[in-house]
Amino acid sequence: MAGVAFNRNNPLVLRMSLLILALFAPIASAWSAATELRSMRTWTAPDNTRLVFDLSASAEYKLFRLSAPDRIVIDFKDTRMRTGITATTDGVVRGVRHAMRDRDLRVVLEVRGGMQLKHFMLSPNDEYGYRLVVDLIDGAATDKPVSAPTSPARTAKRSADEIVGVSKRPLVIAIDAGHGGEDPGARGATGLHEKDVVLAIARELEKLVAQDTGMKPVMIRDGDYFVTLRKRTLKARQHKADLFISIHADAYRDRSVRGGSLFVLSPHGATNEAARWLAERANASDLVGGVRLEDKDDVLASVLLDLSQDATLEASHVVADSILRQMGPIGKLHSTSVQQAGFVVLKSPDIPSVLVETAFISNPEDEAKLRNPRHQKVIAQAIYSGVREYFTRFPPAGTVYAVRRAHTIAQGDTLAQIAQQYRVSVERLRVANKLQNNSALRVGQVLQIPEG
Ligand SMILES: [Zn+2]
Repeated sequence: MAGVAFNRNNPLVLRMSLLILALFAPIASAWSAATELRSMRTWTAPDNTRLVFDLSASAEYKLFRLSAPDRIVIDFKDTRMRTGITATTDGVVRGVRHAMRDRDLRVVLEVRGGMQLKHFMLSPNDEYGYRLVVDLIDGAATDKPVSAPTSPARTAKRSADEIVGVSKRPLVIAIDAGHGGEDPGARGATGLHEKDVVLAIARELEKLVAQDTGMKPVMIRDGDYFVTLRKRTLKARQHKADLFISIHADAYRDRSVRGGSLFVLSPHGATNEAARWLAERANASDLVGGVRLEDKDDVLASVLLDLSQDATLEASHVVADSILRQMGPIGKLHSTSVQQAGFVVLKSPDIPSVLVETAFISNPEDEAKLRNPRHQKVIAQAIYSGVREYFTRFPPAGTVYAVRRAHTIAQGDTLAQIAQQYRVSVERLRVANKLQNNSALRVGQVLQIPEG
């Protein structure tokens, strides 16, 4: 009461307060205009939804949750919203609304219940400015064991196995379309995004693999969303992949550089300067996701990796070489031998892994080819042929490809000699082909070679 009486009875104090307000008002409105929420982007992945709020400058924000219904409230300090921006909703983000609260902007997201939440502010990069990233992760999905999908292709495989009276597993081919979501990868002169073209090629490859009764595709990314590099190899491992193929399109400052190349992991750093530069760029992709998911004991892990890598590195090399030879005829190769680089995405000691740089998107001719759906099919076919050739020569035990080994009888062949050639016993060879003895062999007859 005393204060009110004091103000009312002292016009001088009142006048001074008004003056101070008048002086500060323009500054205050300049402040409120300092940060602008420019757009909201939504990326939907199978087990998570990422919301990205593009801001004109870094902004302080407060984020909290409310229940019944589940909501996430974000208060951006001293921020206003650009007019006319909208947010897309999906099964997880069911509604977005906003309101001004003094100089703060409040955004309310109505979300599905049971989602785990992660949020962080990102600094500008080549592509975007300041961003607040809000990840909603399906809590149930993260620990769910991988169940075998019951696709028509798989059912067809099973019946094919039953016909030949064996039950061998198909080879699991992990197909990894590079980048995705707010990580567009490289960009061509006419604006073609690497993330889009590599997904298109990956989907063509998926079709070819699905048609092969001895193989089964696993798409690491099957939409326009971001997957961290570690999560890519993790998914391949969860599906017990026999091979991991990462598909990319390259870019370089010099636009005349063109052609495809094949990379495998180098246990001792990159083979040359260009390979090192490439690896740095691909690895920087994780920074787009905001957090680099390095293990704490990364040094120890990398030592173990080097020790355990030899066998799969050798296999990776052979697969890569096989793919490279298939790619040769379809376009100029950037390098005619398999390159080695320290890509994080290839660090999967138990799975042979290759990275295909399909072409240089920065080269106008290569970009035009990459854009062409027919050429995308041709690239996918070359990769598939290389993979098939490799597994025909080196089929892992227990797979359909291992059973498929066949020998065509030539003049003078004997069971003993064939058995020795394929390192199987005569008995197994005889039983597998329902043969009584050597006299049952005919020239041109095809014998199935069982595993040794
Ligand atoms: Zn890339």
